[in-house]
Amino acid sequence: MREIPLSSGQISDGDIQAVLAVLRSGRVALGPEIAAFEQAVAETVGVRHAVACSSGTAALHVTLEALGVGPGDVVLTTPFSFISSSNVILMTGAAPLFGDIDPETLVPSPETLRQTIEGVRQGAVTLPGEDAPLAPERLRGMLLVDVFGMPAPLAEYERIATEYGLFFVEDSCEALGTRAFGRMCGAFGDAGAFAFYPNKQITTGEGGMIVTDRDDIAATVRSLINQGRDDSGAWLAHVRLGYNYRIDEMSAALGRSQIGRLDAIVDRRAAVAERYGRRLASIPGVTPPAPGDWCDRMSWFVYVVRLDEGIDRDAVMEALQARGVACKPYFTPIPYQPFYAERFGFAEGDFPGLEAVCASVLALPFYTDLSDEEIDYVTDSLHEALHGAAG
Ligand SMILES: *Cc1c(COP(=O)(O)O)cnc(C)c1O
Repeated sequence: MREIPLSSGQISDGDIQAVLAVLRSGRVALGPEIAAFEQAVAETVGVRHAVACSSGTAALHVTLEALGVGPGDVVLTTPFSFISSSNVILMTGAAPLFGDIDPETLVPSPETLRQTIEGVRQGAVTLPGEDAPLAPERLRGMLLVDVFGMPAPLAEYERIATEYGLFFVEDSCEALGTRAFGRMCGAFGDAGAFAFYPNKQITTGEGGMIVTDRDDIAATVRSLINQGRDDSGAWLAHVRLGYNYRIDEMSAALGRSQIGRLDAIVDRRAAVAERYGRRLASIPGVTPPAPGDWCDRMSWFVYVVRLDEGIDRDAVMEALQARGVACKPYFTPIPYQPFYAERFGFAEGDFPGLEAVCASVLALPFYTDLSDEEIDYVTDSLHEALHGAAG
């Protein structure tokens, strides 16, 4: 039977040569490839600083620490994301406050964020597991996500952050190459983060990057990812509790080689999404993903369709898998993950927008080298799963 995977990284001969060159040089850590990769990302995104590290999760974690987030603090965030965007809040000792998502945009709307912040200010919000209403000064900022590569309403988010004196961290781990409001994703707010796991637009194997225009954040995250060393670079001068979140030279060389063809990757992925959209238009009950009209250029991460209410998503998944088409219910809502449900006591009904979306989403195979013929096989299989064989 044929097998179409959910994702698949593209490794070129040039990528392989770049990694081999590092190995031949003998310098495999803390070297020039890291600096060059950082510069390439900073130029692509249009920010003053880029700091490479070991993962997207590490990037978000140290960014929150650099913003002074710690025990007792609260960060407003989205429940519809990969779990690490909430985990990093917990890692600092702070607590997440989830704003429900708009089923159309898949992110918390600016109105929802404003209402939630106003509610906190009026003493009308109590965190799950706490007895007293949340003290307004505990709400420090927002960590919000460009989900599936689609830009969130970032200009509005920035306005809200400024208006209420909150920080805004943009989790752009799924959106390298997306442009909105005339700027690149990652460049909004106080700082942004990218991730380079193999299913992302470009990969380093494992890796991540913090991007920011703020000198103070750049200096602090650089220290935090490198055992808390000071910026004199003195090997044995540690000025704070830090981590080893460094990336290595082979990974940085791979990332640098890959980002050199980011434009071509983004274009090719757009062509895949375009063909999917055309083929799906003739299948009743399926809604293709659509970025907001503030998106200038879409860099697709995954391709997640929504099925009409009343369609048994899990049965459709099984039928696709039986035909060798990998698919996944992207995402499982964070508040209902076993660990969050147990710790915070979230229960069904808490987030109606989130629940409606999560019951109906289906991620289809999506990667740069997905062929037309494979796309057609996937959409034919989906047609068959929903309505019997295509005519
Ligand atoms: C991939 C991803 C991350 C984390 O990246 P890792 O490199 O896997 O740690 C964080 N947030 C979102 C939204 C992601 O998709």
